[in-house]
Amino acid sequence: MTDRHHPFPTEGRPVDDLVAEMRGGRGDDADWRGGRTFSLVYNASDPELERLHEAVAHEYLHENYLNPFAFPSLMRMEREVVAMAADLVYGNPRGGKLTSGGTESLFLAVQVARDHARGQRGIAEPTVVLPSTAHPAFAKACHYLDVDEVRVPVTADGRADPAATRAAVDDRTALVVGSAPCYPYGVVDPIPDLAALATEQGALCHVDACLGGWLLPFLERLGEPIPPWDFRVEGVTSLSADVHKYGWCFKGASLLLHRDEDLLRLQYFLYDGWPGGLYGSATTAGTRPAAPIAAAWATINHLGLEGYLRLAGQVRDASARLRAGVEAIDGVTVTGDPVPGVLEIAAAPPDPGAGAPEVDMSAVGDVMDDRGWHLDRQQGGLHAIVSPSHGEVADRFVADLADAVATHGESRGVEARYGGVE
Ligand SMILES: *Cc1c(COP(=O)(O)O)cnc(C)c1O
Repeated sequence: MTDRHHPFPTEGRPVDDLVAEMRGGRGDDADWRGGRTFSLVYNASDPELERLHEAVAHEYLHENYLNPFAFPSLMRMEREVVAMAADLVYGNPRGGKLTSGGTESLFLAVQVARDHARGQRGIAEPTVVLPSTAHPAFAKACHYLDVDEVRVPVTADGRADPAATRAAVDDRTALVVGSAPCYPYGVVDPIPDLAALATEQGALCHVDACLGGWLLPFLERLGEPIPPWDFRVEGVTSLSADVHKYGWCFKGASLLLHRDEDLLRLQYFLYDGWPGGLYGSATTAGTRPAAPIAAAWATINHLGLEGYLRLAGQVRDASARLRAGVEAIDGVTVTGDPVPGVLEIAAAPPDPGAGAPEVDMSAVGDVMDDRGWHLDRQQGGLHAIVSPSHGEVADRFVADLADAVATHGESRGVEARYGGVE
């Protein structure tokens, strides 16, 4: 238990003792291995991959990527990761860097766009135009970087609205953003339309594929209908893809890829006015853990195209089972038409004339919590990101959800009888 007045330890404790205490303290932690969580851990359910990750941590736990030139092995791995990812998304093999996560990739995309707008277009107060579904990390980046966000409502299918975006783009626009797919609904924005609007204005266009960057390329190869979203789309100038999501790497690895190396250079920071010597960095961090870089490289090389196709196929199949199961339950539905991997479970619109009340999804979420399922709450319902491990628990999940929806109906009835709730 955390005590605010926890005394500083006077004596050190043995390793085994601390490990035992850590293990003993984890009883309330989410059971991600058992398929009970839906976004925080992307679980490939692959013991050999876990063994690889432990080996990587063992090799590179202590190195520091603050100075890449001190660790050329890491620099080589980063270059290879960038080139391999570029190969997957038709990008520039020299146009990117690894970052610590999606938030940092988006932060740098906004910073590059801001400095491009200021430096090359003379825009004093640049803005970013993005759909309402774009990740909050953009809002955070704009807040930090003193850039104005212009959020545009999406159409009924949850995708960015090209007409509304056109109306929002003006001569202050530094960056137009689309997601592939967006986190809340799992739908891919109309990237060609957004990129064309950006190009017309001389602005940059970022595709946030933090979620889909390591899934869509494989789903496409498996024959799933995936709308155009990568560097094959003209006018897309940068793309983010989290290796620590569907790239199956452990945490701390995302990619920001630029089409153009000149744009990548805007990301670099150099300072030579310090008594401590020349200081430079390619991302926001100073001291930098090396393990995620090595892990990204090792994971990609371990899985290869074959491994990624297998895992994407498992995600697709588990998603299909969950989606069919959800849609078969009276009172709830899946929002829109998401790509495999993401689904929002929402209350179905009540049948006109049937008299059944709309299901209260937060009450359903509470029941699911009680049953050990950790679904995220969204404005429109409950949110799930699907991993291969969910294939094994799909039937249990759907049965529990059906129960939760039904139980909730009863509790509403009780409330209505005793509480005067309409
Ligand atoms: C996860 C995610 C992010 C943020 O990434 P972090 O790794 O959590 O910082 C941004 N955009 C999308 C679409 C995401 O799914």
